[in-house]
Amino acid sequence: MSLENVNTTPEIQRRRTFAIISHPDAGKTTLTEKFLLYGGAIREAGSVKSRRSQKHAVSDWMEIEKQRGISVTSSVLQFNYNNFCINILDTPGHQDFSEDTYRTLVAADSAVMVIDAAKGVEEQTKKLFKVCKMRGIPIFTFINKMDAHGKDPFELMEELENVLGIRSYPMDWPIGSGKEFKGVYNRRKSQIELFDEGKHGEAIVDSVTGDVADPKFRELLGEYLHDKLLEDIELLDMAGDDYDLEKILNGELTPVFFGSALTNFGVEPFLEAFLDITTPPQPRQSNLGPIATTAPYFSGFIFKIQANMNPAHRDRIAFLRICSGVFEKGMMVNHVQKGKKVKLAQPQQFLAQDRATVDVAYPGDIIGIHDPGIFNIGDTLCSDNIKLYFEGIPQFAPEHFMRISTVNALKRKQFLKGILQLAEEGSIQVFRPHLTGTEEVIVGVVGVLQFEVLEYRLKNEYGVEIRMTRLPYRFIRWIEANDFNYDTFKGSMDSTLVETPEGEPVLLCEFEWSIRQIQERNPQVILRETHLKP
Ligand code: GDP
Repeated sequence: MSLENVNTTPEIQRRRTFAIISHPDAGKTTLTEKFLLYGGAIREAGSVKSRRSQKHAVSDWMEIEKQRGISVTSSVLQFNYNNFCINILDTPGHQDFSEDTYRTLVAADSAVMVIDAAKGVEEQTKKLFKVCKMRGIPIFTFINKMDAHGKDPFELMEELENVLGIRSYPMDWPIGSGKEFKGVYNRRKSQIELFDEGKHGEAIVDSVTGDVADPKFRELLGEYLHDKLLEDIELLDMAGDDYDLEKILNGELTPVFFGSALTNFGVEPFLEAFLDITTPPQPRQSNLGPIATTAPYFSGFIFKIQANMNPAHRDRIAFLRICSGVFEKGMMVNHVQKGKKVKLAQPQQFLAQDRATVDVAYPGDIIGIHDPGIFNIGDTLCSDNIKLYFEGIPQFAPEHFMRISTVNALKRKQFLKGILQLAEEGSIQVFRPHLTGTEEVIVGVVGVLQFEVLEYRLKNEYGVEIRMTRLPYRFIRWIEANDFNYDTFKGSMDSTLVETPEGEPVLLCEFEWSIRQIQERNPQVILRETHLKP
């Protein structure tokens, strides 16, 4: 059956595609799992207790795949909740933090930021937040671990503002914390939802509701907590920001929720409010203007390419975000950048527990397509023969740099080929020292694991052994200038100038403060934190 004439609007309207961002250990995996639990995609959450009994969290994709012997990590999960079709994009943390993590955010329509109530805003959260902010997508905050001892909620809100520079609007407000965490006051519904401790996070939590002034709550909470709550609410209403949907949708105000992924508390109210406030997939910017999700053709862009680490399978998976039209298995599309026709033969989708072949997919969905080596990050695929290019995916600032050369000078050609190919895949960024004529290259990465991957792949796929020397730089700025002049540029002791393979000037620095100084000394240039490949 052809789907050309089917009304796709209901399918698009029910889709929500978001990324969960957090610092490792804040509870992203646990929260994801609870979403799946509420969505009915899994029957029992693998909470800490059951994890100890050797069950694994379903969203620990890497682990599952290891166990199943699949060597490619999937990075998106789809499930249904209350007739919404939800795509969650994983942003890997820990050692596998890489540029991919940032790029994934380009495919998301909104972000859920999980914060550990005891630790507040942590390093990795800051970095991921910055990218979300750059894109102007709505950012929802879930303050997790309220069942454990944490910071004061007012202090946490202040931290959001001071560290991340975003104003916040608490959608609910915690009543007590740690062992005394009783529940939340839901500001939208003006009611109290009490926490039922009986279920230990394995099943859906019940709540008791009613008006905040109801004497039954004074009885349940005790005078102290009830008074404190009335006081807090008054303070929030008076001194806090107003609820402003437009600001939320522009990413200027973050709705804040308090809860505990472990005990499920606050998970469902969060999910409901989140789905209610966020919009379905919106038009996507392109060279032809915004492309509506209902455009009469299929289109999408590739935001991530996952190489297979197993040398027996050199193929890769390209992750495509669908922007318009309907995807059908086996369809022929135009690879706009290459000017070629491609058949999308073995598309995959990643359902709660399984990787499945997908027959039909809609805007907002992410599919994995087999890549025999023809796709690059940012490529557009389109069913019509038009020159459509979606807004490019920037290169993000690497934070670790190495000087790299081949051990065997005779392998120079393979070395350069390998390096450039891996750079094209987007896992590393390559620079050359300006005017030195050496064969060395400087490689920058977002996460240090990429150096290991680079070494491994150069050896296994290109037969090249390399020598790596760590460089002290931690910060990069792409230099935008008319007729850049290397000789008159005023650098600093801790910085150096290098070039992209295309010959564009780039500044590497050891210390962040010297960037400001260099910018002041060189007002004729603009120092950029991200970069669009020419
Ligand atoms: P991730 O690294 O962000 O995916 O974090 P995990 O979901 O793996 O959680 C890290 C640790 O925090 C695990 O031991 C969880 O059981 C624990 N954890 C997660 N959510 C909560 C919570 O709401 N309360 C408490 N007390 N612990 C939690």
